[in-house]
Amino acid sequence: MAKSTAAQGFTAESTAACGKRPFVSKEQLEAIAAEFPTPFHLYSEHEVRRRAQALNQAFAWNPGFCEYFAVKATPNPSILKILMEYGCGADCATSNELLLAHACGLEGEQIMLSSNDTPAQTYLLARDLGAIVNFDSYDMLEYWRQSLDTFPKTVCCRVNPGGDFQSANGIIGSPRDAKFGMTEAQLHQAFTELSAEGVQEFGIHAFLASNTLGNDYYPRLARQLFQLAAHEAAELGIHIGFIDLSGGVGVAYEPGQQENDIAAIGEGVRRAYQEVLVPAGMGDVQIKTELGRWMLAPAGGLVTRVIHEKVTYKDYLGVDACAADLIRPAMYGAYHHITVMGKEDAPADHTYNVVGGLCENNDQFAWDRQLPETTPGDLLFIHDAGAHGHSMGYNYNGRTRSAEVLLQEDGTARLIRRAERPQDLFATLDVTEEGKALLASLPG
Ligand SMILES: *Cc1c(COP(=O)(O)O)cnc(C)c1O
Repeated sequence: MAKSTAAQGFTAESTAACGKRPFVSKEQLEAIAAEFPTPFHLYSEHEVRRRAQALNQAFAWNPGFCEYFAVKATPNPSILKILMEYGCGADCATSNELLLAHACGLEGEQIMLSSNDTPAQTYLLARDLGAIVNFDSYDMLEYWRQSLDTFPKTVCCRVNPGGDFQSANGIIGSPRDAKFGMTEAQLHQAFTELSAEGVQEFGIHAFLASNTLGNDYYPRLARQLFQLAAHEAAELGIHIGFIDLSGGVGVAYEPGQQENDIAAIGEGVRRAYQEVLVPAGMGDVQIKTELGRWMLAPAGGLVTRVIHEKVTYKDYLGVDACAADLIRPAMYGAYHHITVMGKEDAPADHTYNVVGGLCENNDQFAWDRQLPETTPGDLLFIHDAGAHGHSMGYNYNGRTRSAEVLLQEDGTARLIRRAERPQDLFATLDVTEEGKALLASLPG
């Protein structure tokens, strides 16, 4: 697996100067860690609100605009409820995500089911909740007919145009290699049949590239989908109610990368809308988004303490978190910036591998990372873990998943998910005599 070595290009001065800063100070974080033992995921309420506001502002030109937060990124009701204050709905892919959205008070078309390989029970639940169903494949229409009978009044279909997705910065996605979506010919066939079967309102959805930087992904995708929508509406005489641009707007994980400008992205989509949809008499089409990463990644960090240092052929900092708390580096070689709390301005003149305790050599948060001199006891803030962080956690090696803490606007910290306990880990063994005995023997 290719490991990210992007940090190696940064000199000690430039790393410090690049200024990726945590949203908390060392003093604040030590106080929080005194109450909630490390490791834990920390979210900034302020940053969540700021991002939700900025997104709404960027698309304020479109009446009916709605962000369906991709629940899988950060499936925590306390986070979802903050987003709901800004009119956000939920984008779900499974029945349990639907249940979570429903438990938060979302209902009807505030919930989007963008799933693939979907079991009938999930469709049933989506129908009962009145959620918008986004069909990933043409064949799923027949599956729906057989398991659920008639279609809802509004239906969305996910298109995969194939080929490569080009951005101004080069090729950034390969839809032809992706399992998601249906071909444009299949979409046409689906709309033809659905229209004949009484569906009145149609949506088109696509997700062609992940974690894009450069502001032109959404505008280009939008233009492509607008053209397709105008074509289908004219051909079939159907009403396209919305275009769902899905996720894929990225964040600057690495220092020195240019942050996306959501206002510029919204303006780019508006231009395409004016140029393609409005002349086609489709000025009532609503824009929907399903951002996960952009909404939440920078609003969260993984907080962990260095507990050991070991020098062999490399200098290893052993921390109390592991890949089970944040798998992206281990899984994709993804870069997550690390701040040693209290040493924000110290020169990054030491080279470390930052590792967890799993019995897997890829359980490392950073390889050959330039950091200030770091010793056991130091608190680390691993940046941009607010999306696809805790949610991708797992229990390998008997690791219990960490807590989630919300740093509230008033500066106080609130536990929004407790850390798992051994009981949680063994609870599913309660069907066996050994499991019952084990659970009974646990303290607390
Ligand atoms: C994962 C996913 C998203 C969110 O993607 P981000 O890259 O986190 O913005 C949105 N929609 C669907 C269907 C997804 O699978």
